[in-house]
Amino acid sequence: MEDNPLFNAGKGAALTMSGGVECDASVMTGDGAAGAVTACTRIKNPIRLARVVKEHTPHVLLINPDVDLATSHGIDVVDPEYFVTPARQEQLRRILAEEEAPLRHGTVGAVALDSHGHLAAATSTGGISKQFNGRVGDSPIIGAGTFARDGACALSCTGDGEAFLEGCVAHDIYARMAFGRLNLAEAIHATFDEEITRRGSTGGVIGIDAEGQVVLAHNSEMMFAACKNGVRIEVWT
Ligand code: ASP
Repeated sequence: MEDNPLFNAGKGAALTMSGGVECDASVMTGDGAAGAVTACTRIKNPIRLARVVKEHTPHVLLINPDVDLATSHGIDVVDPEYFVTPARQEQLRRILAEEEAPLRHGTVGAVALDSHGHLAAATSTGGISKQFNGRVGDSPIIGAGTFARDGACALSCTGDGEAFLEGCVAHDIYARMAFGRLNLAEAIHATFDEEITRRGSTGGVIGIDAEGQVVLAHNSEMMFAACKNGVRIEVWT
């Protein structure tokens, strides 16, 4: 998805106010390990580098990581212009001319449960159109845009990043399951009501629990999602 310009991640990601692309990504496995990168301008696939941070460094979050880290793990490095598409430039022009409101959605994410019962979540984004240079949203922040814990759930969020940050949304959903004994759908409902809708914000989340039940929820106008292996999907707005 990062290579497909239709998504707000990698090539074709949303542009900052100065017309550049700053990519963020994170990944977490249900054993509690996580890796994330922010403000990547030359890493072709930020989600791969987030995994490298998780598996090959002592750290969790790197800002504008060195390209050497990417190349030493076989991850392609590109010129910053690679990410910028004419469609995004036209969108930014319209937003700056106030012909269009800044778009806040389009991030990509994935959640999974493997045959050994392990959960994982990943999220990748260009952020929001016309964002300040250096702005970081929820997507690379563990507990805000991404969270996974074996025995409970894996979650990947999209939407108004500031609300997801302030509401620690992904961890809030997990906590309602772990400590409040809600199921995944109930937990997502409660967190969205309190932390997203109440703030006047919009977004969505994909989640999977330890039994493989998938919940897809959004209070935004729409959210595209796909699900493999015949589990139940719930959608509400
Ligand atoms: N949540 C992302 C951010 O605020 C944007 C999105 O989901 O499209 O950076």
